[in-house]
Amino acid sequence: MGDFQTKEFQTILKARKFVREAGVASAPVDLERLAAAANAKIKIVDDLSDDESGQTTQIKGKHVIIVNGNHREERQRFTVLHELAHIVLELASQHHGPKLTTGTLMRYGKRPPEEMLCDVFAAECLLPYDLFSKDVGDVDISMAAVKELAEKYKASLTTTGSRFAVSAHEPCAFVLSEDGQTRYVSRSKFLNELKGWIDFNIPLPQGSVAYRLIQNGSKTEDYDELASDVWFNGGIKIRPLLAEESVLLREWNQCLSLIWFDDSLKPVHEPRDEEDEDEPLLKELDGTLPWPSKSKRR
Ligand SMILES: [Zn+2]
Repeated sequence: MGDFQTKEFQTILKARKFVREAGVASAPVDLERLAAAANAKIKIVDDLSDDESGQTTQIKGKHVIIVNGNHREERQRFTVLHELAHIVLELASQHHGPKLTTGTLMRYGKRPPEEMLCDVFAAECLLPYDLFSKDVGDVDISMAAVKELAEKYKASLTTTGSRFAVSAHEPCAFVLSEDGQTRYVSRSKFLNELKGWIDFNIPLPQGSVAYRLIQNGSKTEDYDELASDVWFNGGIKIRPLLAEESVLLREWNQCLSLIWFDDSLKPVHEPRDEEDEDEPLLKELDGTLPWPSKSKRR
């Protein structure tokens, strides 16, 4: 996993450079402009079968990205950027050949790392860091906020959520699970600082909102506040409570979970064992200052 994360990080940096050099500075991102920067043209066609998202061909030394015009706009945009990623990163398609099928794009289960890296590149282009992190900083963390930003950037909830967590100004994670297993996890640096890890390819924790939604079957989304050890092994001592908001995407047997800590979830009192540690220290300090008073220093 460490190796993938290094490649993922390098891919993100390449995407940022690509967007910056193409001069993209407003949302939604101008795809024609990005395509031109990679010597590519976008062609929207209506005669692809529904299970085909797009393909790339070469015409007179130029890349032509063909997109299925019958798909939703957000999906067309992601397809274009995924195909652009293959061109810019010089990564050959690993299992869809020249054609990118919808199943390949939407299902995470058995995707080769090259394909996941192309998705990472696409997401970074769709939601450029500088623009997007400013927008994330202006809102409180919630699935509703992710939905609003998804509309603004014309991106899917999945893509927006994963970038949202990375840009969040609080400890925050976004988990994509499929068939009840975690498939992709993104985290803010603040969560990394708390050492809040969530593994890929593990069963959804029992007691999580995501797990309950899948078991229950009547609701498609829910919010709850949970003990932090539901998602994080051994819990997080200074953050006993977390918030989780999850949404089911039944079409793909997937669930999206936004997990975060904010000030409203902090305990009113610090945990007892920490108070006990602090008290003797406070008594020691009481009355005897360990440094000279102002008059003595002068
Ligand atoms: Zn691909």
